[in-house]
Amino acid sequence: MSEENEKTKCLILGSGPAGYTAAIYAARADLHPVLYQGLQPGGQLTITTDVENYPGYPEGVKGPDMMTDFQKQAERFGTDVRFGLATSVDLSKRPFRVVIDDKKELLAETLIIATGATAKWLGLESEQKFNGFGVSACATCDGFFYRGQDVAVVGGGDTACEEASYLSKLCRKVYLIHRRDELRASKAMQHRVEKSENIEIIWNHVPKEIVGDKTVNGVLIENVNTGEISRLDVEGFFVAIGHKPNSDIFRGKLEMNDNGYIITRPGSVRTSIPGVFAAGDVQDHIYRQAVTAAGTGCMAAIEAERFLSDQ
Ligand code: NDP
Repeated sequence: MSEENEKTKCLILGSGPAGYTAAIYAARADLHPVLYQGLQPGGQLTITTDVENYPGYPEGVKGPDMMTDFQKQAERFGTDVRFGLATSVDLSKRPFRVVIDDKKELLAETLIIATGATAKWLGLESEQKFNGFGVSACATCDGFFYRGQDVAVVGGGDTACEEASYLSKLCRKVYLIHRRDELRASKAMQHRVEKSENIEIIWNHVPKEIVGDKTVNGVLIENVNTGEISRLDVEGFFVAIGHKPNSDIFRGKLEMNDNGYIITRPGSVRTSIPGVFAAGDVQDHIYRQAVTAAGTGCMAAIEAERFLSDQ
C-alpha cells in the first residue's frame, strides 16, 4: 500500500500547546508538518475551564476555545492535522518509522514528541463528577478561583507541597491530606509547607468521597489506621498525586528519567537521538504550563528545521 510509505519531513505527535506551536513554526518554515492529535485532541487544556495565565488573553479564555484557536493557527499555515495515536516507533535509523493506530506507517525525517502528561487521579467516581466544578489537578491553573476559600490538596510529594504552598497564598485554609505519616517531598518543600500558617497537614488519611451540590462543598476522608470517616468543608479539591508522562512507546528507545520523562539536553529540546525532539510536559515535570509547553514547541520546530538544513 502506498499509504504505508508516506514520508514527511516533520512529524509531530501531540496536540497540546507544545504540538500546535511546533506545527505553527514548522509549517511557516515550509516543513509541511503532519500532526497526529493523540488520545486527547487539544491536550490537557481541554479539560480545564478558564485559562487566565496565558499571555495575550487579558479577559482569560476557555481552555477548549484556546486549543481550537491553536489548531486553526497551525492549519492556516498548512499543517496536516489528523486524528490518530502513535502506537509504536522505530528510531534506530532515519527516516524514523512511526506506526499510527497500529496500522498506518509513516516515515519521518524529524520527529517532535509533544505527547504531554496525564495527571494521575484517585479513581473516585465523585472526582470525575466534580472535575472542573471544584476538582482540579492544577493549582497554578485553577487556584485563583478559590481565593479566600478553604481547599484541600491530596498527596505527599513535591507537587502536593508546591500546590499547597501556592494555594496558601490565595486561600484562607489549605488542608494537605496525605496517606502516610511523613511526606515524600524534598526537605525544602516540606519546610515551605511547615512555615505556612494556613496549611494543615492531615496525616494518615485518604479521601473517600468528594461531596457537593453543583460544585464541591466538602470531602469525606478516612483515617487509614482506624477506618474512621470525617468531613472537611472545602470548596476546592486538588489532586496532586503525580503525573504520568505519555512516553510509553519511547521506553528503551530514548533516554528517560525514572519517572518516564524524556530527557532533553540542557537548554534545548534535543533528545538522545539526533532528529528527535521533545517538547512540553512529556519532557518537563517542573513547570508544566501551557506557555512553557508552547515555548519548547517553538524550540523543537526551530531545531528540526536546523537539523534538516544541516543534513
Ligand atoms: P510523587 O510520586 O513524588 O508523589 C506522589 C504523592 O502522592 C506521594 O506522596 C504518594 O504517597 C501520593 N499518592 C500516590 N498515589 C496516591 C493515591 N492513590 N492516594 C493517595 N495518595 C497517593 O509525585 P510528584 O508529582 O509529587 O513528583 C514527581 C516528580 O517530580 C518527583 O521526582 C518530584 O521531586 C518532581 N517534582 C519536582 C518539583 C520541583 O522541583 N519544584 C515540583 C514537583 C515535582 P506516598 O508518599 O505514600 O507514596
